[in-house]
Amino acid sequence: MLGLMQNWPLTVDKILDHARNWHGDREIVTRSVEGPVVRTTWAGVHGRAKQLSNALKGLGVKHGDRVATLAWNTGRHLEAWYAIMGMGAVCHTLNPRLFAEQLCYIVGHAEDRIIFTDLTFVPMLAENRDKMPSVEHVVVMTDREGMKGVDLPGALCFEDLVDSGAPDFEWGGFDENMAAALCYTSGTTGNPKGVLYSHRSNFLHTLVTLGVDVMGLSAKDTVLPVVPMFHANAWGLAFSCAAAGCKLVMPGQKLDGPSVHELLETEGVTFSAAVPTVWLGLLQHLRATNGKLSTLKRVVIGGSAVPEAIVRGFRDEHGVDVTHAWGMTEMSPMGTLSAPTAKVAAMSDEDQLRYKLKQGRPPLGVEMKLEDDADKRLPHDGATFGRLLVKGPAIAGGYFKGDGGNILDAEGFFDTGDVATIDGQGYMQITDRAKDVIKSGGEWISTIEIENIAVGHPTAANAAVIGAYHPKWDERPVLLVQLKPGETATRDDYLGFLEGKIAKWWTPDDVVFVDDIPLGATGKIDKKLIRDRMKDYVLPTAKVAEKA
Ligand code: ADP
Repeated sequence: MLGLMQNWPLTVDKILDHARNWHGDREIVTRSVEGPVVRTTWAGVHGRAKQLSNALKGLGVKHGDRVATLAWNTGRHLEAWYAIMGMGAVCHTLNPRLFAEQLCYIVGHAEDRIIFTDLTFVPMLAENRDKMPSVEHVVVMTDREGMKGVDLPGALCFEDLVDSGAPDFEWGGFDENMAAALCYTSGTTGNPKGVLYSHRSNFLHTLVTLGVDVMGLSAKDTVLPVVPMFHANAWGLAFSCAAAGCKLVMPGQKLDGPSVHELLETEGVTFSAAVPTVWLGLLQHLRATNGKLSTLKRVVIGGSAVPEAIVRGFRDEHGVDVTHAWGMTEMSPMGTLSAPTAKVAAMSDEDQLRYKLKQGRPPLGVEMKLEDDADKRLPHDGATFGRLLVKGPAIAGGYFKGDGGNILDAEGFFDTGDVATIDGQGYMQITDRAKDVIKSGGEWISTIEIENIAVGHPTAANAAVIGAYHPKWDERPVLLVQLKPGETATRDDYLGFLEGKIAKWWTPDDVVFVDDIPLGATGKIDKKLIRDRMKDYVLPTAKVAEKA
């Protein structure tokens, strides 16, 4: 027997309708790519997005067509998103931090018909225009004044395009399972593959993220998504802020400590989200300038593991609460968050910290299991490492155009490629990427855990651990350290610092000081590149073992 409730397709245009209807005057503030801070409202975004849908229809865009954005977080980017998705086209977010060659591959694979771009990326597009044969139009997200410096034949002006569209457009009216957005994984795990979100998956993900133990946003919040809209949908914030009626502060292209701090203070931001490197930059800036965070209450940090020094820095120096989050593009992206359970909340601050540093618990809508290499389920004892698999309505069931083949196991779970533990309280902790974990004498060593401790050394700007060949143990850990400018330290300083904090046999066999720890396109340590750079490196212990 079927239920008798209304059929109300879960399409994302309804999220912006809601924001317009009930929070229409809440502001969207942008540090524009042109420079000045500009302001609109949810009602303003709604109206202009409808005009833009009409204009796109005029350019021949139909249901299912891919329309890309190559853009920073701005009000205009938000308008383009909702215009594209609302009319049933697919909004394909391109990551400008990828190499041009990779971008051309992705644009071609997605068969993007139109690209919306910021002024920043016009030179790159001009140079590579002939390698993007599917693209019929490039729309530059600026006004007529901004177009004066644009050297790209045939480029359209965003403001003119919006102005050309009639005000009313009937959004939605299609199946909630239709594709809404496309985002390629950043390629740290091979060729980029397209994750194709549906309206339904984005809508459900939005509802999930609103939970108090998830993003916990309210209409009173002012939110600064530093995490880019091209990095796994800005962790859903472009939807959840509209759903909750938050004021939204968009940082444009300036994500350095001083610029982020200025916006946090001048706009009264209460909530923000970013990868750890952004927060390291902010905390360093605040220390150097004796800066304050007068309104910020909560930050969500994810994308890579949060070092303890960041959680302590926010807590002890600014009274800001950190929620550690884990997720991936394939999960829309939220997977787990470290919000406290009742038992954890009753612990001392220091004991709570141990749980805050874990990646956290899954909200409703995310199923998880741990398995060994023989697909046998592993216990949730907080110690046993295993492959982490996930299942849920906002988790990929396959990649665009069938890339990668069948990605689900017999029970319908997706293998995250992460290695993790789950403890008795339900907190998951990532110990490594499956391909980064160090296998030493048949046992596994977590590179992330060592990195997190090492980066807490007062002289460290960043740290990375990789496995190096060892004739007896197969692999042994090497710690790479990038020192803060002007600092000096020795191998023994770092080994001494790790002593007692990790198992003795996890102690790196060597410490190598490097000029930089390279970061990939989504702000994560690029271990592939590090391994490449270190390919001729030989462990001192390996030489000894070989002689013996
Ligand atoms: P990719 O970089 O593989 O293209 P994503 O940007 O979606 O894809 O990154 C997802 C991966 O990032 C996760 O599988 C995990 O390895 C890593 N990650 C995300 N959040 C965290 C976190 N809080 N701690 C450790 N690793 C994380």
